[in-house]
Amino acid sequence: MSYSYSTIIVGAGLTGLSTAALLEKNHKDYFLIEKDTEIGGKIKSSEIKGWSIDHGFHVFIKEYPNLSLFPDLKRCELINFEPGFIIIKNQKAYKNINIFKKFFNGLIHNNFPGFSLKDKFLILKLSLVPPSYLPKNNSVLEFLQEYGFSKRFINDFFINFFQGVFLDKKLDVPLSYFLFIFKMFSISDVGIPKGGIKEIISIISKRIPESKIKTGVSINEIYKNKIVTDEGNEYYFKKLICTDSLLEKKFDATIKKNLFGEICYSSTKCFYFIVEPENNPENIIHLLPQSELISSLYFRKRNSKEMLMSVSTLNCEATVEDVEKQILDHFPKINIIKFQKSFEIQKALPKNKKFFNYNNENFCKYNENIFFAGDFLSNPSINGCLESSKSLVRFLS
Ligand SMILES: Cc1cc2nc3c(=O)[nH]c(=O)nc-3n(C[C@H](O)[C@H](O)[C@H](O)COP(=O)(O)OP(=O)(O)OC[C@H]3O[C@@H](n4cnc5c(N)ncnc54)[C@H](O)[C@@H]3O)c2cc1C
Repeated sequence: MSYSYSTIIVGAGLTGLSTAALLEKNHKDYFLIEKDTEIGGKIKSSEIKGWSIDHGFHVFIKEYPNLSLFPDLKRCELINFEPGFIIIKNQKAYKNINIFKKFFNGLIHNNFPGFSLKDKFLILKLSLVPPSYLPKNNSVLEFLQEYGFSKRFINDFFINFFQGVFLDKKLDVPLSYFLFIFKMFSISDVGIPKGGIKEIISIISKRIPESKIKTGVSINEIYKNKIVTDEGNEYYFKKLICTDSLLEKKFDATIKKNLFGEICYSSTKCFYFIVEPENNPENIIHLLPQSELISSLYFRKRNSKEMLMSVSTLNCEATVEDVEKQILDHFPKINIIKFQKSFEIQKALPKNKKFFNYNNENFCKYNENIFFAGDFLSNPSINGCLESSKSLVRFLS
């Protein structure tokens, strides 16, 4: 079979869907093709016993500037995280409330072991007056050290909190991106949409007529003006938008430039357990600086007795038994009732920062009629995907 469209978008993850929704708003012709049987790409949720659980720990930040592209996203109902974190050290829990969001609670609950007055002052300063000049060659960790934070605070707070966000213990992201995310966590409501993170996909996809999306179609070959599916069907295009860096591998030799061959991705694994806890507060991020394995952890209430515990790790080889052992080491009184499910995401976040904010445009014009967009060309976040789509659609208009 042979089809023809003015613009074809490959990939119905957040980037492909938001690009389609913006083209729809501009009354442009397009067609969206996705290899999976469902849309959403890396943003997926499912249900366990009435709970919505995300396939990989995701948080939604209400102050992301690009949510204004789709105002319904701002109205998305969240199960908010309590602003701050609990740090578990030597089996003791210390609560630290974000002083910007809850001033008085923040003054009372600030029990970080080794959180010096200087660290407290510097964290206020970093949030209120972010540096106007950023040292060009400094890594995030070098910057924090030079800024004056103590080694212990960098390790126990910055590395432990942000390894779960950047999926990297070295926090090897551009400094400007780190400071942006730090500010977002300081000032914004942060949570999980009531129906799971996939709600943001539902909100955006509502703007796209069903007739303009085809799922379960995998693109196998890409030529100058047509793509060919696994089944051998041909789709001719005037413009092609690719939203996955690996699609470059499918390019015919006459158009391939090997631009994205070196892009690599971090991976993560997320486990869900039903537990009977010992007074564990829900919906606040727990940090475990003494754990080699666990990168983030939180509880959600199920009823007065049971809680759902989400545990993430950057080590995809970790087994349920490894994680259970670590949980019991840090929460000796917890009763693990049942392991529920785990999700392994091998190609989670793009790591090569040289591509971030690609050519200051956040998308790539590959040749006259083929374009790439996505988090790997902007920054690896929901906001980054929206930024990439926005810039590309603006360029194409
Ligand atoms: C575990 C995890 C946690 C995260 N946490 C957060 C967070 O807390 N906050 C935040 O802001 N961001 C977070 N992110 C980042 C955010 O989820 C991603 O940036 C975003 O989902 C990427 O969307 P995308 O559309 O660019 O890519 P993808 O979702 O990868 O979409 C690409 C699509 O292309 C399709 N495709 C690929 N090849 C083909 C082919 N040959 N034919 C047809 N279709 C094809 C794929 O199936 C996929 O659907 C997280 C990501 C992960 C993985």
